[in-house]
Amino acid sequence: MTRDEILAYLKGKDDAGLFAGARAVRREIFGDEIYLRGIVEFTSFCRCRCNYCGLRAPNDEVFRYRLTEAEILDAVDELAALDLPTVVLQGGEDPHYDVAFIGRIVRSIKARHAIAVTLSLGERGPEAFSHWRECGADRYLLKMETLDESLYGTYRPGCDFQQRLAGVRTLQRLGYEAGSGIITGLPGMTLETLADDILAVTDLALDMISAGPFVPHPQTPFGAESPGDPQLALRTMAILRLLNPHANIPATSALETVREEGRKQGIDAGANVLMFSVTPASVRKNYAIYPGKNQETRTAAHTVQKARELIRSMGLSPSSSLGGSKVGKVGA
Ligand code: SAM
Ligand code: SF4
Repeated sequence: MTRDEILAYLKGKDDAGLFAGARAVRREIFGDEIYLRGIVEFTSFCRCRCNYCGLRAPNDEVFRYRLTEAEILDAVDELAALDLPTVVLQGGEDPHYDVAFIGRIVRSIKARHAIAVTLSLGERGPEAFSHWRECGADRYLLKMETLDESLYGTYRPGCDFQQRLAGVRTLQRLGYEAGSGIITGLPGMTLETLADDILAVTDLALDMISAGPFVPHPQTPFGAESPGDPQLALRTMAILRLLNPHANIPATSALETVREEGRKQGIDAGANVLMFSVTPASVRKNYAIYPGKNQETRTAAHTVQKARELIRSMGLSPSSSLGGSKVGKVGA
């Protein structure tokens, strides 16, 4: 697809045709299966100052929590009991959890359960990435947020674009299933930015690609900005599916936040992954990266059951497989 064709689709040239094409490609590669992941958000502390995120260090109105080793492992046990085949350990960039601690957690999980472990802990350096891989971590999610270097600087003060990009490449070199992605509709982004981001993220040849809309958080410098257009996020996901047939693409919770039934529409636009918070209910709502995040107060069992029902109602099948990437494995 050329940049001009991408731009035409982003402008809404043919949503029905775009989404049908994306679903057909997903079906060809993944059949009817939708992969399920449980997320344990184990710390709301963060040393960074991303201008879009409620967990940014200068926000002193957010409640900060840290889970203990036992609490993290209990949450993973619960997830495994629900037959969720992947755990995503996510958090702010929180040096309180040192390299050895995270490594020990990964080893413990792999010893207890036959599940895949995804880490999403921000930039922690090549030695940390390498150690966690040796401990058994399977996947790592490190979103670029945008591939436009000058915009990146305005979104993530104090962070270096080239360093983050090098981080993604290090993860690939270490043999992780590497994930990255973008936020759509951040302040200052144009359709041209988005088209370039789609092409640049495709060039990275990723195993997982996440594209979710920006949701303004009032306690951040971007609090008064407009939210990302959910339709644009859906078009972005569908184009990414066409350009990256074998990649795992989630229907993000941000999409559900800005539009009712957003996740269902994400699956309709070619996504093949759903993720749910299995963070202990006592702290779940405090992982407040944007308003509306983690508002579900019922049990993880309830959430997972509802998701499986949703998938079946769409004529699809909730997968019980580990849900690994098919990039480079099936006809790629
Ligand atoms: N701290 C790690 C990092 O930034 O890579 C992982 C956790 S961070 C909360 C996970 C993702 O949340 C980020 O990559 C970003 O895409 C997303 N995020 C944060 N604030 C957001 C917002 N206001 N709207 C949409 N997505 C947001
Ligand atoms: Fe921290 Fe991640 Fe939020 Fe940035 S997006 S402030 S790194 S939790």
